[in-house]
Amino acid sequence: MSMLINGKETSKKIKEELKNQVTDMIEAGMEAPTLAVVLVGDDPASQVYVNHKKKGCAFVGIRSLAYEMPETTSEEELLELIDELNERQDVHGILVQLPLPRHIDEEKVLLAIDPLKDVDGFHPFNVGSLSIGRECFKSCTPAGIIELLKRYELDIEGKNCVIVGRSNIVGKPISMMLLAENGTITICHSRTKDLKGVCKKADILIAAIGRAKMINRDYVKEGAVVIDVGINRLDNGKLCGDVDFDDVKDIAEAITPVPGGVGPMTIAMLLKNCVISAKKHQE
Ligand code: NDP
Repeated sequence: MSMLINGKETSKKIKEELKNQVTDMIEAGMEAPTLAVVLVGDDPASQVYVNHKKKGCAFVGIRSLAYEMPETTSEEELLELIDELNERQDVHGILVQLPLPRHIDEEKVLLAIDPLKDVDGFHPFNVGSLSIGRECFKSCTPAGIIELLKRYELDIEGKNCVIVGRSNIVGKPISMMLLAENGTITICHSRTKDLKGVCKKADILIAAIGRAKMINRDYVKEGAVVIDVGINRLDNGKLCGDVDFDDVKDIAEAITPVPGGVGPMTIAMLLKNCVISAKKHQE
């Protein structure tokens, strides 16, 4: 059995560390970090995510301001709220829960958020800064993967990193972050030829596809580190990743489970970005 990379435990540790940092900030006379969480509509999955984020904030000592707006909210109304939050000195982070209702242009909304409060790291300013190696807010799921690799002392430098998936929220940013850590990067997608052959060369294999258990041992080199970003719901209601965990676990050096791997790290990194933002705004 390979080493299990435990995101649940690691995220707990990070939250404890952040809690201590927030306590220190308050003792030093700073304001508590404040995150505005904007939810439009009543998508049940989004409500669950927002509640997890609020709970995480409460644990760490981050003040969360909830803006729960009806499905009928117009784009203009949402943009007005974002302008107001951009202006407020006491708000350090703004998070708009995606997806937004169809009548609202998501790109326009993300562009409206002040990049210095964009704790999700989705604003093109932050995406561009990441790709040219400038300090910026890094998108949370990929940042969580890097944090896991570092905390488990799994070297990236010089390693052959293969990423399956090229989305703007996972595949592309994780590629940039691994490159910044001196990995050698290959990005695969649905048109990649000989996907198995390409994956089999990976020292670090990242699956961000959205296809249950697609990556089995035919894709994995003996001794590879396997990071599973996928979250898929099976017919029996259980969650599973893009990696066939049971098939791969004996040949990988280290592997993340689903649930309990990359997932919990996403919120931990969001909270970390909020604390960083609050410090920067007040220093
Ligand atoms: P997207 O659907 O945006 O992207 C999927 C990517 O996988 C695309 O680039 C697509 O290629 C590629 N792909 C699809 N099928 C194949 C295939 N058969 N062979 C090779 N490549 C393929 O997904 P996301 O990046 O948003 O999410 C990926 C997974 O990660 C999902 O399960 C999602 O739920 C999960 N996720 C988990 C998070 C967490 O916190 N743990 C956060 C975000 C996502 P192409 O571009 O050619 O279409």
